[in-house]
Amino acid sequence: MRILISLFIIGLVSACQQPETNVTESIAIADNQQQIPEHLPLVEDRDIKNVIFLIGDGTGLAQIASGQLALVGPDGLLHMQTMPVTGFVKTHSSDNLITDSASGATAYSCGLKTYNGAIGVNPEQIPCKTILELAEEQGLSTGLVSTSSITHATPASFATHVEQRSMEDEIAYDFLDSGVEVFLGGGFEYFSEQHRADSLDLIGEFEDAGYQILRTKDDLQNSTSNQLLGLFADDGLERADTEPNSVAMIEKALSILSKNEDGFFLMLEGSQIDWAGHGNQVQYLLNEIKDFDAAVKASLDFAQEDGETLVVLTADHETGGMTLQRQLAEGDSLEIFWTTGYHTGTPVPLMAYGPHATEFMGWRDNTYVGHKIAELLGLNGFPILIQ
Ligand code: MG
Ligand code: ZN
Repeated sequence: MRILISLFIIGLVSACQQPETNVTESIAIADNQQQIPEHLPLVEDRDIKNVIFLIGDGTGLAQIASGQLALVGPDGLLHMQTMPVTGFVKTHSSDNLITDSASGATAYSCGLKTYNGAIGVNPEQIPCKTILELAEEQGLSTGLVSTSSITHATPASFATHVEQRSMEDEIAYDFLDSGVEVFLGGGFEYFSEQHRADSLDLIGEFEDAGYQILRTKDDLQNSTSNQLLGLFADDGLERADTEPNSVAMIEKALSILSKNEDGFFLMLEGSQIDWAGHGNQVQYLLNEIKDFDAAVKASLDFAQEDGETLVVLTADHETGGMTLQRQLAEGDSLEIFWTTGYHTGTPVPLMAYGPHATEFMGWRDNTYVGHKIAELLGLNGFPILIQ
């Protein structure tokens, strides 16, 4: 009888929670870096002018730790690990303990829980005002930077309101009236008359609205406009030589947005850390962590110099159920184990640097992060529904 019950329980568990994958891979452990970056200090609280919000999609502790071991060694530190304030984020959505990136980003952008797939709308599909929109209303400059299509769930949730994340044609269209000064990422096809279902020449519309259109890293380098639509790939960035990396994108964004005396709000996403998790591809993951961490360094350098900039870094969820499993016999490599090809409900790290960084300590709900950023920018009354 006991065996039967056990078999029944095993059957039940495997029916409900069968991992999609059980993949083991290994990574080479790097020699310790020569110059370990310093931990950044806490800085005195004062009014915040600028916010740089960094989202590593699918970036849990294991993703950061494996990146550190493979890139800078056991004693090294990634730049994100120098941020003085750390906390944790609980990531569940309104309809699922395992969030997707749309509801995960909407929790940050609007400060409310919504259903998986929702972009800037509440569970009743009523649009909710985002931190970025509030910043625009108060005269701040704003920017969205991603390594996915710029119309993907994470960036979309900061500037548009649609019922489903798959509506990327609509999202691209809605960006036109968002007031966002700088869009940099992939997703050319959602703006192009050749690919859009409605055959609308959205590229032309953005040009008419004053945006300079950029297609390559040279275009980005040579751009002179203060309004940019950079679309460096048809969909997600492919890491082609002609594309800019995240550092090049964030440095350009910062150079434009920081011209505004009233301040700015900038969201940068390391989008493909999540995609590497979905594919259980550790080398892909390491490349993406490296790219993201370089953008983190650029953000922290800017904030240190500026003194009125808050940098907040977190993830929307963990992807892949990644674990650091065991050091292999040779001693120079580490076994990685993936338990799923989807997201997990494991809480994710939260880091902050700059004035009021300490407000991001502790175990927080994802919605708290959105509320707090809004409050620190002097934007009150979250969440706000647009009736
Ligand atoms: Mg994303
Ligand atoms: Zn994902």
